Amino acid sequence: MNKKNKIIALVKIWPVKIAVLFLIAAILFLNSFYLFNHKEEHPQKPIPSDYNAKNLVKPTDIPEKPASLSAQLKIPIVMYHYVEYVQDKGDHTRLSLDTTPYTFESELKSLINEGYQTYFVKDIPKILEGKIKYDLSKAVVLTFDDGYEDFYLNAFPLIKEYHVKATLFPIYDFINKQGFLTDTEIREIIASGLVEIGSHTLDHVGLKHVSSQVAQKQIVDSKKDLEQEFGIKVESFAYPFGAFNNNVMEMVKQASYSAAVSVIPGSIQSENNLFYLSRIRAGFFSYNIAGVLSALKK
Ligand SMILES: [Zn+2]
Repeated sequence: MNKKNKIIALVKIWPVKIAVLFLIAAILFLNSFYLFNHKEEHPQKPIPSDYNAKNLVKPTDIPEKPASLSAQLKIPIVMYHYVEYVQDKGDHTRLSLDTTPYTFESELKSLINEGYQTYFVKDIPKILEGKIKYDLSKAVVLTFDDGYEDFYLNAFPLIKEYHVKATLFPIYDFINKQGFLTDTEIREIIASGLVEIGSHTLDHVGLKHVSSQVAQKQIVDSKKDLEQEFGIKVESFAYPFGAFNNNVMEMVKQASYSAAVSVIPGSIQSENNLFYLSRIRAGFFSYNIAGVLSALKK
């Protein structure tokens, strides 16, 4: 190849090389720009999942009671966490706990179309006592754990639009923290009359892993603080990570809650498990929650 041909060859190749380099630089820049912005959006690491595999069965120290002493009713309680379009595809915790707003709306539509009634967790003791009219085949309780801000942004507008009831379990000390509900948002949520506020402790500790004194404070003070802050009566409780034992359950009873939800899978509730009500994990559903619920045996 002579000198002239070499130059021609270089001219032909260099624009390609420059274009490739520019493209790589652009990709790197956009990626870091995205990551930087994303970091700003979610600086707080998501708290670990409530859906803890270790807590899917009834603790062994809970005394067995004869089933015949109590009415058993099918009351499906669905457990939601995030309702959003998760931006960070690497955030596996968030992704595993997420229901997209589209799916959530589809689920609500299917419930409405099938004539389902929604109830609060605090209604369950009254349903079991026969004090609230209840259709075994057409009833569901929707629960939202942790009090993420996406509840206000994505779930609450749909709850209002479809006029369904829901029980929200905010973590008291996380209120007003970034990524969580603000007290102003909670006041608006309460004012709708469509959302019951239950307690999910002060700062999301695994109650069976801490001293009785700490557990007691978490259970009692979170109720008192929510009641004083928002001028409401708090009747329902959700165990962080679904972690509890007989001692913790007795403390919840003593603190004058009327019911508590666990992560033990199932939809059959009774007086026996009033303080460790079974729940069904959202995400198990697709768009037709009503169909799934009616097919559920337990
Ligand atoms: Zn939680």
